[in-house]
Amino acid sequence: MKTTPVKLSLIVACTFLIFSQTWAQENNAAMDTRAIEFPDIPGYVTLKCDLHMHTVFSDGSLWPSVRVREALMDGLDAISITDHLEYQPKKKDIPHEDRNRGYELAREAAKESGLLVVPGAEITRGMPTGHFNAIFVKDANALNQKDVLTVFREAKNQGAIVFWNHPHWTAQKPNGVATLTEMHKKLLEEDLFAGIEVVNETTYSDEALELAQEHNLAIIGNSDVHGPIDWGWDVSRAKHRPVTLVFAKEKSLESMKEAMEDRRTAAWFDNTLVGEAQFLGPLVEQSLEVSRSSDGLVPRVVIHNHSDADFILENLSDYRLHNQAKVFIVKAHGRTPISVKTLEELESFELRFKVLNAFTSPDTHPEIRLKVD
Ligand SMILES: [Zn+2]
Ligand SMILES: [Zn+2]
Repeated sequence: MKTTPVKLSLIVACTFLIFSQTWAQENNAAMDTRAIEFPDIPGYVTLKCDLHMHTVFSDGSLWPSVRVREALMDGLDAISITDHLEYQPKKKDIPHEDRNRGYELAREAAKESGLLVVPGAEITRGMPTGHFNAIFVKDANALNQKDVLTVFREAKNQGAIVFWNHPHWTAQKPNGVATLTEMHKKLLEEDLFAGIEVVNETTYSDEALELAQEHNLAIIGNSDVHGPIDWGWDVSRAKHRPVTLVFAKEKSLESMKEAMEDRRTAAWFDNTLVGEAQFLGPLVEQSLEVSRSSDGLVPRVVIHNHSDADFILENLSDYRLHNQAKVFIVKAHGRTPISVKTLEELESFELRFKVLNAFTSPDTHPEIRLKVD
């Protein structure tokens, strides 16, 4: 059959229509599945937070309301717009003196949604100080001062939570190793910061985790995003921004602040969780539900994973498995059948696992227990 120009344009039009419909469907599917999901743990709700991001009010490329929309698509509970106090490269195009403006616009945009917007700013200094975020501030303008210690003391006066950003950033720490300077020791002595980013954008720091443990700092993980979030993390490939998980008594700004002051946080990036065992253990246990589907000497058990993390489990149980080796993966939102060689008929038994993609220190993992009835 000869293809005439008319037929050809029809084919092109139809192909375009099919393609655009397929794209829309896939895009909707991506929209539905992109929300980050973790269960609550006993006594606390699990808030998914990104507490470090930029807008056009410093060196970011988006308006604050777009940050709100991105956060809602990602299923976040809280964000903080933390534009640089001292670095304003867009001043010529967006002349403004009010360092609270980004927060106000985001809060307005989030008004009808459940998203908590935390007022914040990034203290942006060279070494020996580096960059710090102050969140839960009352007035960011008052932090826009020359003397760095005055800024930290003002943040403390305002009741802000201050954490050290990217302490392992190679622009400020060429070897990538987070270590305290004399300035940081002084800040700690005066109790002027209370948290540390163990995860920033696409980087992770074992040393930052060690500093968090040594100095009782909240473990934080943030995107520090400047461009569109989807440019940094491809949701169509199941990538997601890093988040700080905050274990709060309820979903409110007051509760969230209280939880962070009490260091009830963890970080999630890629497929890795970082935090204290007292939070990571329950988080993984609540993510996994076991149901028994057969009896006998080799009972079959299905592990349902209700979270967005693939868990890499190492079997520590008293029993070996019949269909898995010692280490296996329980896929996010998936069902993983295991057959357990209990060697005798048991009414109920306990499975114990080490969670290899969760870290309580650079070399240790939390352990979980699952009861099978
Ligand atoms: Zn920074
Ligand atoms: Zn930043």
